[in-house]
Amino acid sequence: MLVAFAVLALAAPAPRNAPEAEIRAAALAMTPALVATRRDIHQNPELGNREVRTGGLVADRLKALGLEVRHPVAKTGVVGILRGRRPGPVVAVRADMDALPIQERNDVPYKSRNAGVKHACGHDAHTAIVLGAAEVLAALKDRLAGTVVFIFQPAEEGPPEGEEGGALLMLKEGVFDDPRVQAIYGLHMDPTLPVGDVGWSIGPIFASADTFAIDVVGRKTHGAYPHTGVDPIPIAAEIVQALQLIVSRQIDAQNPKVLTIGSIQGGNRHNIIADAVTMRGTMRTLDARVRQELKDRIARVVAGVAEAHGTTASLRFVDAGVPPTRNEAAFTRASVPSLQRVYGPEHTREVAPQMGAEDFAEFAERVPALYVKMGVKNEERGITAMIHTEDFDIDEAVLPLGVRAVATLVFDHLARGAVTAAPKPQP
Ligand SMILES: [Zn+2]
Ligand SMILES: [Zn+2]
Repeated sequence: MLVAFAVLALAAPAPRNAPEAEIRAAALAMTPALVATRRDIHQNPELGNREVRTGGLVADRLKALGLEVRHPVAKTGVVGILRGRRPGPVVAVRADMDALPIQERNDVPYKSRNAGVKHACGHDAHTAIVLGAAEVLAALKDRLAGTVVFIFQPAEEGPPEGEEGGALLMLKEGVFDDPRVQAIYGLHMDPTLPVGDVGWSIGPIFASADTFAIDVVGRKTHGAYPHTGVDPIPIAAEIVQALQLIVSRQIDAQNPKVLTIGSIQGGNRHNIIADAVTMRGTMRTLDARVRQELKDRIARVVAGVAEAHGTTASLRFVDAGVPPTRNEAAFTRASVPSLQRVYGPEHTREVAPQMGAEDFAEFAERVPALYVKMGVKNEERGITAMIHTEDFDIDEAVLPLGVRAVATLVFDHLARGAVTAAPKPQP
């Protein structure tokens, strides 16, 4: 009798769509708890690779939900695995947990208690939303056909100098390996979209980012007799100008790119010719080929301008950089109806990519991915500040909406029964 019942249960067809009324009710009921979690994390922000308290909180919550928990992963990260009752695809959801070295200026009851550190990129909300979605989905476990891997990632904003960290380290420590993740969702708070709206795109949604340094070699001498040395300052100035000609004259205008020199250092006195100049900058592209082309052309300009002036200059990229974040077409098309059911079609917007970068790109390089932007702007309440500012805040109405969106995306994806595209080969 028992056996027959089990067979029947296994043979029952999987539900086609997420049980929306149930998910909505659950998200609504947990709203005060979501707000409390977000504010708790907001008041106790931690920088990249130092998310000890946040990671501990996440691990405790996931364990309490009955998930398999790995912690710590990649320094302070957490992975929670939820196995549905029936077998099926493996889908991941990623939230980042790190804060920024920014002093909070908002006078709110949940103001940061950590001087000089603030959740100015909304990662407090990402963590609260994905924890909430884990709770909703854990309650629906018997109706899930497949496995959900919840990834809580440290150091999205970059690890401290000299340390490894972020998405790449999580991959290196096997977060995609067991169970083998076949697709992934990511999310970000977006102060350019009103709360209640969600943004998606096919193809790039964020740019690649590469940080570089240029060293121009000079030869020190008296400032009144420059011909007896080599002055690296005008050479550096010429390199800065020539680099902008790469952007405006050498690469197809159809390909977005940014090249910024953000710092120049050289010399220490008005009448001494400097012996070196170091410049630091960042480059952004939406395309892997343009990214490589830009790197090659920068190297050529740097070496060529220096040579023309009888000296040398070198270019180095300070780390591996981040590729563009790409939303895979088939996976995105299959997922957008889930967003539309939560937000309404008129509030589910196709958005243009931005030149900011996200290390979620490392996950999206390996499996089909969809990264969505959740609106948090509320003009009436004065919530309009950009991310990475002292004033950034969110309209917390995004929290239950975000939980519904993540739970619905995941449930629907598993209910579709198969990955929508073959996993990409490892780069
Ligand atoms: Zn950020
Ligand atoms: Zn961020």
